[in-house]
Amino acid sequence: MTISSVAFLGLGAMGYRMAAHLPKHFEQVFVWNRTEEKAKQHAQTYATQAVSLEQAVQADIIFSCLPTSQDVENLINSVKIKSGAIWVDCTSGVPASAQQLAAQLKQQGVDYLDAPVSGQTVGAENATLTVMVGGDTAAFERALPAMQAVGKLIKHVGESGAGFAVKAVNNMLMAVHLCAACEGATTLKAHGVNLTEAFECINASSGQSTVTSNIVPNRIFNRSFPLTFALPLLAKDTGIAVDLVREAKLAAPVIGLSQSLIQAANALAEENSDFSTVAKMYESWSKITIE
Ligand code: NDP
Repeated sequence: MTISSVAFLGLGAMGYRMAAHLPKHFEQVFVWNRTEEKAKQHAQTYATQAVSLEQAVQADIIFSCLPTSQDVENLINSVKIKSGAIWVDCTSGVPASAQQLAAQLKQQGVDYLDAPVSGQTVGAENATLTVMVGGDTAAFERALPAMQAVGKLIKHVGESGAGFAVKAVNNMLMAVHLCAACEGATTLKAHGVNLTEAFECINASSGQSTVTSNIVPNRIFNRSFPLTFALPLLAKDTGIAVDLVREAKLAAPVIGLSQSLIQAANALAEENSDFSTVAKMYESWSKITIE
């Protein structure tokens, strides 16, 4: 299939930047956003076309990037999608919802791929996202050129729901690292250790992670806590991971504890807090500032 039209639904922190790459690769690019103003602004800036939802779902490839699977389900159930289209859902969603949507859309001649992304807003801006895809292999192959426009590593990881499962576990690992790094930092500071130097060593050692090398120095030490990935979204993702553990009837105490910690931090946080503000919960417990 030659892709002649692509649509992007949901121009949030991720979607706005992802959709900006599409006109470089495809002739007709539709954008739709709940708050229409953002779509109009996108169209003016990137030469996309701001259209109605009904028109957007007539594209060959329809991307969505909304907060939750429930939001995507509501959207899908409110429109008639073009037969033969492929819906590429970049939301960090629920695996069971992907399975249900893939089966439901198949009846209408539409393929649904769960295709969550990783790499933060900077990855969206530079089209270097990792895309982990679940669903029909032939649909994956057909949609690949569109996903290549927004990502770098694009991997088919299994059947419907597998992409969402990988994403939930990835974000859970990040949450575990975040909690552990905050605990490690407050402990070191309580012992009078200089945190900048300590993390320089850790980042050249086996304790290194994206959290220690990027999140801690660039968001926490400098007290910037820039809102690029909202804490409620991380709490949603860790919740999905815990549900997956429960469904598989496994014991995963680290995952369970981390989910409780992220939920507690989310409950304590001010509105519109970045995920890095988890550090503030540890600071209030320990009365130690991580800087
Ligand atoms: P944002 O909150 O920045 O944007 C959400 C988008 O969804 C907005 O366009 C918003 O429209 C729209 N929206 C919200 N609710 C609805 C609804 N009920 N119906 C229709 N549209 C709706 O989120 P992000 O872009 O940060 O995240 C989107 C997804 O990507 C999430 O699942 C998140 O977990 C995931 N993700 C986020 C990353 C990040 O670094 N931010 C990284 C990787 C994945 P409106 O403008 O009207 O509010």
